[in-house]
Amino acid sequence: MDTLRNVLTQSEKAEVAVGHFNVADVVLLKAVLSAAHEAGDPVIVGASEGERDFLGTRQLAALVKSLREESDLPVFLNADHTHSLAKAMQAANSGFDLVGVDFSALPFEQNVSRTKEAVEAIKAINPAIMAEGEIGDIGTGSEIHETAQQRRLTTPEEARQFVRSTGIDILAPAVGNMHGMLESMVHGKTRKRLDIERIAEIKKAAGIFLTLHGGSGTDDEDLCKAIAAGISIIHINTELRVAWRQGIESALLKQPKEVVPYRILRAPLEAVRDVVSRRLRLFRSHSPGYVDVSHR
Ligand SMILES: [Zn+2]
Repeated sequence: MDTLRNVLTQSEKAEVAVGHFNVADVVLLKAVLSAAHEAGDPVIVGASEGERDFLGTRQLAALVKSLREESDLPVFLNADHTHSLAKAMQAANSGFDLVGVDFSALPFEQNVSRTKEAVEAIKAINPAIMAEGEIGDIGTGSEIHETAQQRRLTTPEEARQFVRSTGIDILAPAVGNMHGMLESMVHGKTRKRLDIERIAEIKKAAGIFLTLHGGSGTDDEDLCKAIAAGISIIHINTELRVAWRQGIESALLKQPKEVVPYRILRAPLEAVRDVVSRRLRLFRSHSPGYVDVSHR
């Protein structure tokens, strides 16, 4: 299987982004891999600390390893939003391809020193593991929020300084994105909008791969422009969680007496797979060589 670094380099050249989808159970994992297989696209499976605690860090790594041994499809695993050195090392030791180190809630200098320490520890375990760092405020919680908050965006100068002092491979900036969705976004009445010019400036200043967190509910056109401006990875989580819940609810309503889990769980699996398929198509839709195979 190709390395994540190679896949990101090729994606950047082709002006496409790699989709990052969070999983909290086997239904989500199967849905993400099934959509990726169908599209023939590389994919990053992510799990936050909460999701890893539920699934088991080593168990998730073993599941993904066994699934990718069965196909040539590049499937990578990210330890999303890792808030401690111990958890970063645990993910690296468990065989994750990428560790998303997140000390962005701390003051800038502390974020730099804690991130640098984690990057060094990860690389000491395996130099091939990529490390991501975060600056700026994109909020917490991939769930439905009552109100939107005014958030502080990342500046190009901060990005330059942060990349130089930490040794990260991938930077996650705040560029209008946020975790979670508003109720109005779930129904498609409002959309998140991105600061495209800022993304281009940060890309130039940082000189490394950029990740967009909190991609759920973002305007499609903005996502395409963000990819052209230098975003290489796009995170989608809340949209999957909404589809998962709606799928379970509809299955239980339609089959009130059903108790066989794999019959009930077919509906959420298909609902999540549809969301992932749509997002994967969008993330590579502006590539010059793109052919939409969805209607074949
Ligand atoms: Zn995130």
